[in-house]
Amino acid sequence: MAGPLLAWYGENKRTLPWRGTRDPYQVWVSEVMLQQTRVAAVIPYYQRWMEELPTVQALAETNSERLMKLWQGLGYYSRARNLQKAARTLVSDYQGRFPESLRELLKLPGVGDYTAGAIASIAFGLPVPAVDGNVLRVTARVAAVRENILDPAVRKKFQRWMEEAVSQEHPGEYNQALMDLGATVCLPNGAPDCGRCPLASICEANRLGIQDALPVRAQKPSRRTEELTVYLLLRDGKIALRRRPDQGLLAGLWEFPHVSGVLEEEEAAVPVGSWGLAPLDWRKKIEAKHIFTHVEWRMTGYLLAVKGNCADFLWADREELDRLAVPSAFAKYLAEAREILAACPERA
Ligand code: SF4
Repeated sequence: MAGPLLAWYGENKRTLPWRGTRDPYQVWVSEVMLQQTRVAAVIPYYQRWMEELPTVQALAETNSERLMKLWQGLGYYSRARNLQKAARTLVSDYQGRFPESLRELLKLPGVGDYTAGAIASIAFGLPVPAVDGNVLRVTARVAAVRENILDPAVRKKFQRWMEEAVSQEHPGEYNQALMDLGATVCLPNGAPDCGRCPLASICEANRLGIQDALPVRAQKPSRRTEELTVYLLLRDGKIALRRRPDQGLLAGLWEFPHVSGVLEEEEAAVPVGSWGLAPLDWRKKIEAKHIFTHVEWRMTGYLLAVKGNCADFLWADREELDRLAVPSAFAKYLAEAREILAACPERA
């Protein structure tokens, strides 16, 4: 399958900012950003990142606020933290260079089979596979595999098949060709364009007409719902933020203070008092929701002026609001806060 695939890739590869590079740092950052995120969304993040953090050393040395800010909006923030952890390991243990072996790459924080395979094959020309969702889909269809691709044992099987199938001469191109084929031709959700596919003549799913049924994925567990009351607390032209704990969901990012449950205005005043603040003026109620993989937040927010102080809060002006990393779960509240601080900073 390598011949037709590589020929197709030569004529149809996507033009992407990280395409053509053999710099392991650039390959690594692009591949990590692309996990769980669409290519079009990644491009501006990647370009901004490379302008600000062009080397492993620069990434190792940047502060966490800057790191989170560069990642803000991409989600799954542990990816950014792991990038920095790994960069620091590369600087301390490998003189800032990437090890040219799959086994050593796999020891880096946050680097799994896929990322290690991508770096090893694209940057160092090692004949190893890089099996992501696109590759799983194409392979499951070509071989008409009816097993559940979310099952770790089945994924291991795919990994072994791909270790045998990968091109020995052009492993990086081969892996990228499969990724591009999955992203542009062998599309998910019953939309493969088999007429344009270089593998159509050897594809079992195409022969049997069962492309739409593959790959098989077991049902995902259902998502739970959490209700929150969020506070936009205004004082002297500034707005209250607090830092999330260093562990868990959205660790270390800045958020608007909030409590569990949906509270009506009267009840909502109670937490405000417990923070040592006194409500002066309830200005607005703002509803929002945000969906994570396993949980959905349904938020009721209040914009209110207060007096007093709370040691846990940072009172941010517009500039600080722009500088600090606030997760996109709070995007609606962030927009509101920006607007209110811009409209009447002296009265807010
Ligand atoms: S022939 Fe169709 S189903 Fe088979 S790999 Fe190509 S696009 Fe996918």
